[in-house]
Amino acid sequence: MSMKLRPHHALCLQFFEGKGYSEDFVLHMYRIAQALEDDPPITLTDGCDDVCAACPHKLGSRCDHDEKVSAIDRRAREHMGLQSGDMLSWRELAALAREKVISAGKLREVCRDCQWIDICLK
Ligand code: SF4
Repeated sequence: MSMKLRPHHALCLQFFEGKGYSEDFVLHMYRIAQALEDDPPITLTDGCDDVCAACPHKLGSRCDHDEKVSAIDRRAREHMGLQSGDMLSWRELAALAREKVISAGKLREVCRDCQWIDICLK
């Protein structure tokens, strides 16, 4: 099964440790993390994705923090050298996120303003 992800979720998913915006959201994240173990094809999107689907911050088709998260998406996407609409496997996307952002020491810059950043930087 293919999946739609916004770029910065390729980072969040590598640090997920059971915390999130609501109980339903956390359960949904566990399901997404499990589905990614099968290395599905991913389409990058600019807007709400399969992670957002269970988020209390998703209002209609938009995130209510859209200005902030779209900026994080743009920085993540640019560092990974990808474009919205690109298709690649989860393993390829996760490897790019690790190589171009996490191991490159760019997480603090890419994810600035994110309320969860301390989880990913510890
Ligand atoms: S806060 Fe916004 S970007 Fe993050 S999961 Fe919720 S709806 Fe999606």
